[in-house]
Amino acid sequence: MKITKINHIGIAVTSIDEALKIYTDVLGLKVQSMEVVPEQKVRTAIIPVGESKIELLESTDPEGTIAKFIEKQGEGIHHMALEVDDVQAALGVLTGKGMALIDQKPRKGVENTQIAFLHPKGTRRVLLELVES
Ligand code: ZN
Repeated sequence: MKITKINHIGIAVTSIDEALKIYTDVLGLKVQSMEVVPEQKVRTAIIPVGESKIELLESTDPEGTIAKFIEKQGEGIHHMALEVDDVQAALGVLTGKGMALIDQKPRKGVENTQIAFLHPKGTRRVLLELVES
């Protein structure tokens, strides 16, 4: 398992349109893509920052995980995504080391990536996502 960089930081927002006023208008960053991921009940905006990205996450469903997160903790940093060369292999290695997983196998993420989430109970309450792009 090789971790190569922080691929992105996921930020939960109530409104991408409102949040973009900060990231684009004020900070001068540019949106690379916007995508709805129905399985995850989110709308996303990907904003590159050098080698990494900011991923804004807006819930499309009041029962979605992002809606629930905001309900509990308010808007803010939701997860950090580490880029790996092979998500499937990384899950095998981490399971072998006793790491609890949310995703037992990779699933499709935004921009045609393969992703998997680790369980925050094993990572000091930091929600970690693995990404293979
Ligand atoms: Zn993410």
